[in-house]
Amino acid sequence: MMPVTKKKNKGKIFIISGPSGVGKTTLFQRVIKLKKYCDKIFRSISVTSRSRRKGERDGRDYFFVSPKMFEYKIRAGHFLEWERVFDHYYGTPKKKVKDLTARGDNVLLCVDVKGAQTVRKKFKRVVSIFIKPPSMEELQKRLNDRGSESGIVQKKRLARVKQELNEAKYFDHIVINDQILKAVNQLDHILENELFIDDGRI
Ligand code: 5GP
Repeated sequence: MMPVTKKKNKGKIFIISGPSGVGKTTLFQRVIKLKKYCDKIFRSISVTSRSRRKGERDGRDYFFVSPKMFEYKIRAGHFLEWERVFDHYYGTPKKKVKDLTARGDNVLLCVDVKGAQTVRKKFKRVVSIFIKPPSMEELQKRLNDRGSESGIVQKKRLARVKQELNEAKYFDHIVINDQILKAVNQLDHILENELFIDDGRI
């Protein structure tokens, strides 16, 4: 259950973004689990039309729906933003984000670079964080290690990475995901500072 206390300011939207395969989902999951954020930053769970990977759970990792259901939700205005990434739909449910920020709670999103741009245009109180791979070689290795995708899908992802890396300059912060612990620490530092700037407390 989320607390119902009304806060004086609107909440912030924190966005973790970057090329796919860069490890942003892992970072997102690690940072949101830090105890100090448990009643300060709430994660948004995206809706997707892609099929579930091994170990993923509906309602925890994503809400998995059919492409038809996703298209219905687009028409119904269900999304704050949505994108088609590599032949699958991904979207951020609007209601939860709006309700949380309206009552002063902060939300953390993990979305692709285009999704981040859309959210930045729609909201003022956004803190965007771009996750970079240490190198293209390392990114390619991580995509290979994932093992759940065909060579064609991996090639498509790598081609897109180059475009996405160009967008880093529009983000408020850049974190290089070289060592996971170091990257989590940097993210933690950014979130803590941004919360502190807001209302003088964390
Ligand atoms: P994956 O299939 O690897 O989980 O995700 C593919 C890409 O979609 C990743 O870059 C991921 O961050 C992005 N993504 C996940 N959820 C959303 C969302 O709600 N909106 C947008 N725009 N991208 C998302």
